[in-house]
Amino acid sequence: MVRENVSATTIDQVRETVSRHWGYDSFRPLQQEAIEAVIADRDTVVVLPTGGGKSLCFQAPACCMEGLAVVVSPLISLMKDQVDALRTNGVAAAYYNSSLSSAERNTVIEAVRCDALKLLYLAPESLLNQNMLSLLSGVTLSMFAIDEAHCISSWGHDFRPEYRGLLTLKERFPGVAVHAYTATATERVRHDIAAQLSLQDPEMLVGSFDRPNLNYRVQRRSRGMDQMLEVIERHKNESGIVYCISRKEVERTAEALNAIGHSALAYHAGLSDTDRMHNQEAFLEERVDIVVATVAFGMGIDKSNVRFVIHSGMPKSLEAYQQESGRAGRDGLEADCCLFFGGNDFGTWKRLMAMSGESNEAANTALEAISRFCSSTTCRHQALVQYFGQSLDQQECGACDVCLDQLEQVDDPLIVAQKILSCIVRLEQMYGADYTAQVLAGSQDQRILEKGHDRLSTYGLLKDFPKTVIRDWIEQLIGQECAQKVGEYNQLHVTELGFQVMRGEHTPRLLKPASKSESKKASAADPASWEGVDRGLFESLRDLRRQISGEQGVPAYIVFGDATLRDLARRRPSSLENFLQVQGVGQKKCKDYGTLFLKHIADYCAEGSVAADVEVKSAAPSRKPVEITASAVRAFPNFKAGESIAEVAESLGRAESTVWGYLGQFLRHEQITDPTPWVDESIAKRIREAIEEVGPGPLKPFFEHLDGEVSYDEIRIVASCLTNAEG
Ligand code: ADP
Ligand code: ZN
Repeated sequence: MVRENVSATTIDQVRETVSRHWGYDSFRPLQQEAIEAVIADRDTVVVLPTGGGKSLCFQAPACCMEGLAVVVSPLISLMKDQVDALRTNGVAAAYYNSSLSSAERNTVIEAVRCDALKLLYLAPESLLNQNMLSLLSGVTLSMFAIDEAHCISSWGHDFRPEYRGLLTLKERFPGVAVHAYTATATERVRHDIAAQLSLQDPEMLVGSFDRPNLNYRVQRRSRGMDQMLEVIERHKNESGIVYCISRKEVERTAEALNAIGHSALAYHAGLSDTDRMHNQEAFLEERVDIVVATVAFGMGIDKSNVRFVIHSGMPKSLEAYQQESGRAGRDGLEADCCLFFGGNDFGTWKRLMAMSGESNEAANTALEAISRFCSSTTCRHQALVQYFGQSLDQQECGACDVCLDQLEQVDDPLIVAQKILSCIVRLEQMYGADYTAQVLAGSQDQRILEKGHDRLSTYGLLKDFPKTVIRDWIEQLIGQECAQKVGEYNQLHVTELGFQVMRGEHTPRLLKPASKSESKKASAADPASWEGVDRGLFESLRDLRRQISGEQGVPAYIVFGDATLRDLARRRPSSLENFLQVQGVGQKKCKDYGTLFLKHIADYCAEGSVAADVEVKSAAPSRKPVEITASAVRAFPNFKAGESIAEVAESLGRAESTVWGYLGQFLRHEQITDPTPWVDESIAKRIREAIEEVGPGPLKPFFEHLDGEVSYDEIRIVASCLTNAEG
């Protein structure tokens, strides 16, 4: 049934709901735009990277809109976690799938019938079941939200035939908007999703694929497990994932980690279902810190506080790398992604792919792209987003090994490169990287002697360096397109750019072998997120969270995320009122957990004479300076010309609430201090007075203080001008 004559939901209502149920004070990039399209009943395709906050885009408006939101999700495990998370936030949600008993299923059906749910999660096959379809036809629906929507496209990396059935939704439920959510970026997949679902003039919202809170580091594997252990030591007692290429390596690594006192469990397709489930739960409930896994691990894991992801070998593609490393830092707090690659990884993958019948042109191209990424010396953030067709404005990200100068250049890269390239030429471009490295290292290998290559002028030119280092330099030259591998035997050829190097016209970058290279500069991934946090309290709050998680059998991050624990350990509230001000605390969680956490915090503060109720200036630690989006910039000339919100909205064809967001960016960018062109003088005055009275902080108190008579947008604009005035 389509909703009739219902008064439209407003963005302020949604904002209020987000604050009440989720305890969040602001939207992440594109969430507002996505939500506006939802409440306007306009079909959408929303592409945001993992951790970008796609769920909130439909969950929050679903709470406010009349009727039931039907959410299609491919994985049973994911459904359960999402529904658990919604319920702990006090939202009426349920899932319906084969894991339920028939009595449980009946309960869900009854709840749907009597309009008691806001969200229902289903797998596509359950949705398309005749009984379910007729049940849904008889109730009011607010929307369909299709999660992991790329599963509908055969161009995507995870095509699921069951998803194809969804193309009948528009026929069966005309008038109900359909929203598609995915992290898969390619344009082809995006358009295929819209076409397959017959979306009508959908709003396409594509976020930035950069994950600024992730620190990337990519190193050649040169010191056995030591490189990995340095990362793990840095994250003692925190959650992390170690990916290995093979099962055997998974087992060996997990054993080794446990033997030296870390808590790790293995996860791969060779384990029984029960073992896999058990190990996964232990990770979610934080009874174990580290999961060592093959790529099989992670689909269906929403754990938000994974603080590091280590690849002990090269992944099979950049898509895989983006996805696996993307499981770190979903909560927006900084996290480390370290990749340790070896010369054999390429071959290992080829062998594995040949064995599983996955080997083809596309897979090979993907392997080559990730190989180049590993040995390249351009910013990792930049390289990753470029691969997905975007680019970053800033030259240096401040959060990768390249930009943080953790890579040391060799002293004379031109000479070393010339030696290598001339050796390739002397070998008549007939040999591969290994052989060439051996010749340069002056190896006494039988094959070299037999072919008389020990008499080449380039023989032994780099004999002061181990073969593995020379091999690495060759890869780096390939990465910078000075040489390439050609044909079935990967014979090395010198490219046009390579010849320029030989003539001294171009100098490539060549890196020294990986040493104990700790960061020299501080990472920009998120320096503010620990500011003012009492680490001791944070750790003991984690213990408390672990205990609750175990008792209630829900993942720890669903109880509270790391960002919330940090904010608690920063503010150290002593009353329920102050508890509610903490990021990530909504009313239900305040009621459920408030007393318990307050007691814990009070004990801690009393014992260590630590101050409680610390005032924190801004609600959430700021992630980045001002973020200016391209779409907002288009509105800047209009603001400069003094157009009102309504006029700008009209001339750009955007919703007014979107334009308010643009205005915020404009004010910050231009450091404007006078809000009155956009906010009525007397209202601006009231807001200013309220801010002076209540003090700086989250917006909610002002909204309440002003009895909801002025909008959040107006408060934000005035607050922003005040901040600009303070300079
Ligand atoms: P995705 O589905 O895009 O991978 P999620 O929806 O799982 O991302 O969100 C990732 C994390 O970010 C979750 O822990 C979620 O609660 C949190 N989050 C989402 N939106 C916000 C927001 N506006 N403010 C703070 N945290 C948010
Ligand atoms: Zn960088």
